[in-house]
Amino acid sequence: MDDREGFRPVLGEAASFAGDWLDGVREGAIPPRADIDAVADALGRDLPARGPSPEAVIAHLAAAVEPGLMRMHSPRFHGWVIGGAQPVSLGADWLVSAWDQNAGLRSLSPGVVAAEEIAASWLLRLLGLPDGAEVGFVTGATAANLVGLVCARDATLRRSGWNTAVDGLAGGPRVRLLVGAERHGSIDGAARLAGLGGGREVAADDQGRIRLDALRAALADGDGPAIVCLQAGNVHSGSFDPFAEAVEISHAAGAWVHIDGAFGLWAAAAPRLRALTAGMGGADSWATDAHKTLNVPYDCGVAVVARPEAMHASMAQHAAYLQSSAGIADPSDRVPELSRRARGVPVYAALAQLGRDGVADLVQGLADAATVIADGLRGLAGAEVLNDVVYTQVCAAFGDDERTRRVGDALRAGGIALASPSQWRGRAVLRLSVSNWLTDRREAERTVEAVRAAVEKVDRLR
Ligand SMILES: *Cc1c(COP(=O)(O)O)cnc(C)c1O
Repeated sequence: MDDREGFRPVLGEAASFAGDWLDGVREGAIPPRADIDAVADALGRDLPARGPSPEAVIAHLAAAVEPGLMRMHSPRFHGWVIGGAQPVSLGADWLVSAWDQNAGLRSLSPGVVAAEEIAASWLLRLLGLPDGAEVGFVTGATAANLVGLVCARDATLRRSGWNTAVDGLAGGPRVRLLVGAERHGSIDGAARLAGLGGGREVAADDQGRIRLDALRAALADGDGPAIVCLQAGNVHSGSFDPFAEAVEISHAAGAWVHIDGAFGLWAAAAPRLRALTAGMGGADSWATDAHKTLNVPYDCGVAVVARPEAMHASMAQHAAYLQSSAGIADPSDRVPELSRRARGVPVYAALAQLGRDGVADLVQGLADAATVIADGLRGLAGAEVLNDVVYTQVCAAFGDDERTRRVGDALRAGGIALASPSQWRGRAVLRLSVSNWLTDRREAERTVEAVRAAVEKVDRLR
């Protein structure tokens, strides 16, 4: 079998199934129709001695799995913070799989390294981060938070005369970790993996922003190496910490500042939202996602560290056989992995197509749609919007907790729009996040209509 016979038919088949799935994105019901057991039954649980042709496996896979898929690409899918995928980034992602390059070393694949390095420099420019910062492409913001915290840990300990690379953590000075009361859970997970423990919680204001008086007091209460975690984009309110002051206070106390901006860092790319990020560029490390706001396919997160040496000291691996490039950083010097897919290539493609203005319009469009949703919800019987809608997040309640939960269930059952149930400031809420490039004003209005129908259904059944 030559390569042509081997790959073309199966890729054609996969493209055809993918096209069918994507064609249904805008109008198809959002929730899955089948549960995990049903899908597993359809897939078949027994490993065959030998299977059928590649095309037959792809056809079977598509037919069995599709009923269990959530239409996360729907413009009215507002659960969690989950972006869609733009055509150009999906196309680039397919090329990455077909090329199948190991993106770990400069000497291995000049092609993908060049694309990733250009993407990295464009990202720094768009997000208002320092020019000379280092950028690593990781699986998501959780991994990017881990990279930031590990670099922070090692750098702050080095300043205290302790070298984790040689001596580990045990027996060294304790690193104080200060986190906002409304940090994302991934900060806790990353801190645990980094050996930093649970951290000290710093009080937040009514929008979930870190309070400067509380931060000042927490920093004054102790000494030695310290890390302060700030947030751009609170998952409930969309709020941003007051970076300029918080960074200044933290640096004055000798602390490293890390910013989790999984979806919020992107506000810097939109002129009318940029003020939310004022002072953000003064931090020491940042985490963001390309698979959320930029709408490239999973998995694509971005870890940024202001001082390249700090990133290399914590991330690089050295071995004679690797033929690392002398004196110049390899991609693997910026991330925990050695071998990985060239996940920065779809970022290059998305940015190349959108351009600076296109990215600004994308981000502004998400925020505008959130405003349309919030305004619409305020007009529904018994509904309240609990947050100041400054960015892409809307947090709504529909009377008491029970009624709010029922509205969420009815909305999901209706299949037209979806929001995630949560708890914020002691109340049950429905959280609507706008992070899909397809969500324009018209789709935002359709979301409001779907919520209106859900509210009416709940009240009829009472
Ligand atoms: C989504 C999110 C994360 C985690 O990102 P993953 O890409 O899911 O790993 C971290 N912080 C915030 C604020 C987020 O919204």
